[in-house]
Amino acid sequence: MLKVPVFYYHSIGNVGPETLSVELFRQHLELLKSHGFTTLTCSELLSLPTTDSGKYALLTFDDGLLDNYDKALPLLLEYGFKATFFVIPGFDNITRWVNASNRQWSDEKRPGFTIPFPSMQANHRKEMTKLGMEIGCHTMNHPKLNKINVGQLNTEIIDSKTLLEDQLGNEVSSFCYPKGRYNPVVLEYVKKAGYRSAFTTMPGYYSTSTFSYECGRFLVESPGLFSRVLAGSLTTNRWIEWACHLMQPGLKLKNVYM
Ligand SMILES: [Zn+2]
Repeated sequence: MLKVPVFYYHSIGNVGPETLSVELFRQHLELLKSHGFTTLTCSELLSLPTTDSGKYALLTFDDGLLDNYDKALPLLLEYGFKATFFVIPGFDNITRWVNASNRQWSDEKRPGFTIPFPSMQANHRKEMTKLGMEIGCHTMNHPKLNKINVGQLNTEIIDSKTLLEDQLGNEVSSFCYPKGRYNPVVLEYVKKAGYRSAFTTMPGYYSTSTFSYECGRFLVESPGLFSRVLAGSLTTNRWIEWACHLMQPGLKLKNVYM
């Protein structure tokens, strides 16, 4: 039976601590290669025939950071892998800043926030699409969707999709909830907007029984844990899902499993 590990990342190869080093990311890719995995984009996964039992994995990136283009993309191309990038078009002209001592993020430069995280632009996204990557939508401005009104849901879920589709010239069919936050109203909105799938921050494999608007993903840093996820040996038991849900935004898996 299909059991696809889905991973998610944010920054690759920037200055720590809020980034995954290029070296560790390369080790993840090496593991995928040595274990014979084929990587799919989110829409390719959703289009698989139900009888397919291939050895697949998904790599996804949240937040549309420029280092995804500068650092992750060349490595993906080197290995012949695909990935899906969930981007935030409202952040195009915003550089975010990280405070290394408390790992906090800011949308503007403030005292203590010394590490810049610039965003990808429309031209980067377009180029990535041409190279076989998928661009998915991660809202217009990255709010907690369970905390905003219906008018704002329109902007965040529908206008962002239209904007990206106009820029890319193709359909944007995959969505990702910021900080994993959603509720039944949000979920229904995403569905009605025409997305075919939505991804959360709850750990979980994709299988044919997965509800496509609540696809789980693994946030992993250590290659050891990455191997365990690949081997399918991580039980995504109910209490872990519950804990992750309760403690949103995202528990780092290493804190749960190690
Ligand atoms: Zn995000």
